[in-house]
Amino acid sequence: MKFNTKTIHGGQEHDKAYGAVMPPIYQTSTYAQSTPGGHKGFEYSRTHNPTRNALEKAFASLENGNYGLAFGSGLAAIDAVIKLLKPGDEVISTNDLYGGTYRLFTSIFENFGIKFHFIGMENASNIEGYVNENTKLIWVETPTNPMMNIIDIEACAEVAKKHDLILAVDNTFATPYLQQPMDLGADIVMHSATKYLGGHSDVVMGALVVKDKALADKLYFIQNASGAVCGPQDSFLVLRGLKTLHVRMQRHCENGKAIAEYLSKHPKIERVYWPGLENHPNHEIAKRQMKDFGGMISFVTKGDNFEEAIKIVEKLKVFTLAESLGGVESLAGHPASMTHASIPKEEREKSGVVDSLIRLSVGIEDVDDLIADLEQAIG
Ligand SMILES: *Cc1c(COP(=O)(O)O)cnc(C)c1O
Repeated sequence: MKFNTKTIHGGQEHDKAYGAVMPPIYQTSTYAQSTPGGHKGFEYSRTHNPTRNALEKAFASLENGNYGLAFGSGLAAIDAVIKLLKPGDEVISTNDLYGGTYRLFTSIFENFGIKFHFIGMENASNIEGYVNENTKLIWVETPTNPMMNIIDIEACAEVAKKHDLILAVDNTFATPYLQQPMDLGADIVMHSATKYLGGHSDVVMGALVVKDKALADKLYFIQNASGAVCGPQDSFLVLRGLKTLHVRMQRHCENGKAIAEYLSKHPKIERVYWPGLENHPNHEIAKRQMKDFGGMISFVTKGDNFEEAIKIVEKLKVFTLAESLGGVESLAGHPASMTHASIPKEEREKSGVVDSLIRLSVGIEDVDDLIADLEQAIG
C-alpha cells in the first residue's frame, strides 16, 4: 500500500459490530467478563482500548514499523523511551533539541542517574567520541527546532548498529510523509502527535513506533505500568487527522517553499532557515533523506533588533502568535522571548537563536494571504 492510501486505511478494519467506517469512540474504562478472565481481548483501558488500538496500528503503518504506541503527550512518549534505561546508562543526544525534551532529560532523568551528552550531530562521526560501555541510546531530532538543522539518520544508524545502541528519532517536524526513519535504520520513531499528525491544534498526544517485538514488549509494559496513555476521544481525533496528513503536508510544503523564497528576496531579511533552500548548510542531506522540505521556517531580520522582531510578530493578522506548530492554521513565534527565554542570551546565540529570530509554522491557507500578511508586518 502506498503512503497516500495508508494515511486512510493503514492498519484499519471496519467495526465488527455494525460496520462503522470510522472506529467508534469506546469511551469506557472497563469491559464485561463472562467468567474471570473470560473477555474479548480487553480488560481495562489503561492496558488496551479499541479506539486507541486502531490509532496505534495506524501509527505503525505510517512509519513502516510493526508496533505503535499512543501516549497522553509527546513528552510522555519520550519519558517511556528513557524508562528503558537504568542508573549509570548514558544517552547521546542532539544539542539543538526541543526545550521540553531537554528539560525532561536534565531536570528529571539526570536525578535518576542517567547521563546525557548533548552534541552537534550534523557530522555523525562526532557521535563515536562519546560512545563508551555505558552508552545505550542515541536520541536524534531532525529537522531541529528552531534552526532547522538536518541530521543524517542513516549515518547515525550506522554508528548505532556498530556499537549495538538503540537509535530513537523524534520525527515530529518532518512527519512520515517527508521522512521515514525506520527505513533509514532507526529502532524507535517518536512523535508529538499534537503537531502535524493530529494537524488541527485540538489535541495533545504522543506516539512511538518500533519494528522489533522484544523492544515493543518492553515499551508496552512501560506504557501500561507507568500509565501515561491517551483517551479514546483524543485517539479518534488523531485518527481523523491522519486521514488528511498527505494532502495537508503537500500544501504545507508548497506554501513553505513560496514563503521561504519570498523571505529570501526581502531587503529587510538577513537570513532564512529552510532546508529546501540551496544555501542551507545541510541541503544535500535534506534532499537525500526527505521527500520535500516542510512548512517550518525561521528567519532573522537585518540589524538583529529585538524590539523590531516583537513588532513584526505583533502586527501579523493571519499568522497567530502562539506556541506549537503543525496545525492547518499558520502560527508565528519569537523563540528568544518565548520557547528559549529561559536560556541565557549568550547560550542561545551560540546555537543561532538570536534576538530577531522568528519561527513560522506555515499553515495551509491561501499563500497569497500569508505573504500579504508578512509583507504588511515586516514593512
Ligand atoms: C511539541 C514537541 C515535543 C513535545 O510534545 P508534546 O506533545 O508537547 O508533549 C517533542 N518534540 C518536538 C520536536 C516537539 O515539537
